[in-house]
Amino acid sequence: MRLILLGPPGAGKGTQAQHLVKSYAIVQLSTGDMLRAAVKAGTPVGLKAKDIMARGDLVPDEVVVAIVADRISEPDAANGFILDGFPRTVPQAEALERMLAEKGLALDAVVELKVDEKALLHRVETRVREMTARGEALRADDNADALKTRLEAYRSQTAPLAAYYQGKGKLRTIDGMAPIADVGKAIDAVLKTAAGESRSTSAAVR
Ligand code: AMP
Repeated sequence: MRLILLGPPGAGKGTQAQHLVKSYAIVQLSTGDMLRAAVKAGTPVGLKAKDIMARGDLVPDEVVVAIVADRISEPDAANGFILDGFPRTVPQAEALERMLAEKGLALDAVVELKVDEKALLHRVETRVREMTARGEALRADDNADALKTRLEAYRSQTAPLAAYYQGKGKLRTIDGMAPIADVGKAIDAVLKTAAGESRSTSAAVR
C-alpha cells in the first residue's frame, strides 16, 4: 500500500498515519520529521531548512525530493508507505510520480483530510497549550505567525494537489472534522476499495 495523506497543518495527518502504520504494516514517511531531524543534527540540509521552517515557508522542492527519493529506497519502505507532508507542490508530485515509475511502482490512493480552518487554529492552539503544560519543547513553527504562513503555503501551493490527483483518479476525500476513530474508519473504507483497483475513479466520502 502506497498512499499520500493530504491536508493542512493540524488536520490530523500524523495521528491517522500512526493508525495506518499499525493496520497495514507500512512505514510513515513524514518530510517534516525528516527535516526536523536534519535541523537537529545540523546537517547541510538542516542548515538550509532551519530558518525557512521556523517561518512556516516551504523548503525548496529539490531538497525535499532528494530526501524522499533516498528514503523510499530504504528496505523498510519496500512493503509500502504513507507520505505525510509530501508532496506539497505540483513539481514535488511530478517528481514523486517519476521516482515511483522508475521503480515500477504507483500510488494506491491520495487521502485528503478536509477540515475547517477555524478549527485548525484552535487545534494548534490546544496542542501548544498542552505541550507547554507538559513541559515539552515546542516546534519552532508552533506559533501564530508561522501557522498563518503555513496555512497560506497550503492554500496556494499544496491545495492544488487535490485537483491534480483527482485528475488522475487517485483522490479520496474524507471529513477530517469527525472524531479521530471515525476518520480512521473512513480511511480504512476508502483504502479497501482503492487496494487492487487498477484504474480508479475519483470519489468523495463525506
Ligand atoms: P510538517 O511537519 O509536515 O508540518 O512540516 C513542517 C515544515 O517542514 C513545513 O512548514 C515546511 O517548512 C517543511 N516541509 C515539510 N515537508 C515539506 C515539503 N514536502 N516541501 C517543502 N517543505 C516541507
